[in-house]
Amino acid sequence: MKKTIRKIFRAFNYDLFGQTPTIEPSHVELPSSFLKIETPPKADLPSIEELYIMFDKINAFYFANKLPQAKIEYSSRMTNAGSYTPALKLIKISKKYHQIFPDDIEDTLKHEMIHIIHFYHNAEFKKEALRIGTSLKAKPHPALRRKPKYLYLCPGCKKEYPRQKRLRMASCGDCSDKGRFDNRFKLKLYKS
Ligand SMILES: [Zn+2]
Ligand SMILES: [Zn+2]
Repeated sequence: MKKTIRKIFRAFNYDLFGQTPTIEPSHVELPSSFLKIETPPKADLPSIEELYIMFDKINAFYFANKLPQAKIEYSSRMTNAGSYTPALKLIKISKKYHQIFPDDIEDTLKHEMIHIIHFYHNAEFKKEALRIGTSLKAKPHPALRRKPKYLYLCPGCKKEYPRQKRLRMASCGDCSDKGRFDNRFKLKLYKS
């Protein structure tokens, strides 16, 4: 057993340096904590009220409260990080994008707030973006921007798990019994 544990740690350490472990996980006995349940990426997003508070703070801090009030909504369809519609005075924040990159939300809001005064990504827009430290361009959804290196598939429900990193002992979060690793639904590499 000691030897097995050493093997696991060796495999684990190798992984830290981005190298392929020399042993196959199926050859060793793994502690249950090593087994993982994979769930599709999701994150709790701020409420609309919290977004309005964020808007007020950014307006006060960077714009001396000079920006006119805009409406803020979440969009569940939009794949770009955010958008601004002048006719409606409406900022839309993409759910899909920020469930993957929750830390980007303030950046997106800042970017869209500049659009209240500068519609195009022109020189004036860029000057403001540099001044308040935000992205120059709207960020597209990562699925469109960066292809996942690996695509895993649940043998049960056929749900796709796009991942940038290799998975070893991982099973489907929807099918696995009681949220524990379930060998029947071990994710299979479909494409890499
Ligand atoms: Zn923009
Ligand atoms: Zn499944």
